[in-house]
Amino acid sequence: MSQTFNAASLARENVKIMTPYMSARRLGGNGDVWLNANEYPTAPDYQFNERNLNRYPEAQPAEVIQNYAAYAGISPEQVLVCRGADESIELLIRAFCEPGKDAVMFCPPTYGMYSVSAETFGVEQKKILSLPDWSLNIPSIRENLSNTKLIYICSPNNPTGNIIDNKALLEVLDMAAGRALVVVDEAYIEFCPEFSVASWLEKYPNLVILRTLSKAFALAGLRCGFTLASPEVIEVLLKVIAPYPLSTPVAVIAAQALNNDGVTTMKKRVEGIRKNRIALSEALRELSVVETVYPSETNYILVRFKDGARVFKALWDQGIILRDQSKQPGLVDCLRITIGTEIENVRVIEAIKALC
Ligand SMILES: *Cc1c(COP(=O)(O)O)cnc(C)c1O
Repeated sequence: MSQTFNAASLARENVKIMTPYMSARRLGGNGDVWLNANEYPTAPDYQFNERNLNRYPEAQPAEVIQNYAAYAGISPEQVLVCRGADESIELLIRAFCEPGKDAVMFCPPTYGMYSVSAETFGVEQKKILSLPDWSLNIPSIRENLSNTKLIYICSPNNPTGNIIDNKALLEVLDMAAGRALVVVDEAYIEFCPEFSVASWLEKYPNLVILRTLSKAFALAGLRCGFTLASPEVIEVLLKVIAPYPLSTPVAVIAAQALNNDGVTTMKKRVEGIRKNRIALSEALRELSVVETVYPSETNYILVRFKDGARVFKALWDQGIILRDQSKQPGLVDCLRITIGTEIENVRVIEAIKALC
């Protein structure tokens, strides 16, 4: 017996109208130079010979938590480990936002997953556009605070590369005190550690910080991220997280990435990327098809071209895959370029030079 079955018609109303997040991998392309996902360009080596896969893993693996706390300069009670910073974004909404009642706030142009996660759970989104210099619109944030439970602030911001200054963050923390959590997304903080606000956790119980092993730790394929917050916030998140968020192999590798050697290696990577970023930025500024190379504290740069679509297509056709940001507010003709190896940098420069 066959029945007609239309899965889409059974989905929740807000899911029916959703368009899925177009991750770099989903966008496809036949590239050999992948500069569209802010990954580290080469693969690190890790030891793995765990035999006890018949057993469930630790829910919050102690060694990973301890190593991360030591690395971040905070206490283990302030650390939650999960399946990437993307899972943290979602856990916070699941734990703190009532669909149809509460709202999340974020400041475009910025990272796309705040919106996707809010949409998935049917939670209202307040989009407070950043000012033309990409600083926060503080008065507008203040005016829109009612029913806001979470304020996501990405610093350094993806895709613009700028830091949100301390004074603005402090203002938001103060105005949100007692009513909303301020979630500072520090996915790229290893590239500019002096700007981290991790040391503020003691003083601001409504501060939450997102971290990841996907960028400077070169482990995007591992799916491992961290939420740093007061023990009270972490306790709430532990109510909604899956019972075994990390598989045993992930925990084993994450613990290695975060031991003293791992952190030293990460810092060397950051130095190399910084050098390549300066070289790429300087070379691009010389080219006539380039309008602006924005300053960046990260492992990517945002570039405004005279004709962004033309550059994107020309490089795509040569297997150099960049990320088109032109649909974001204020980012017409802008492409985001991940800093790759020196050789990949040269490929990018030569390909763009050929268009001048
Ligand atoms: C890459 C990225 C993330 C996601 O990190 P994962 O740990 O890979 O899920 C979160 N926030 C920003 C701003 C990012 O660029």
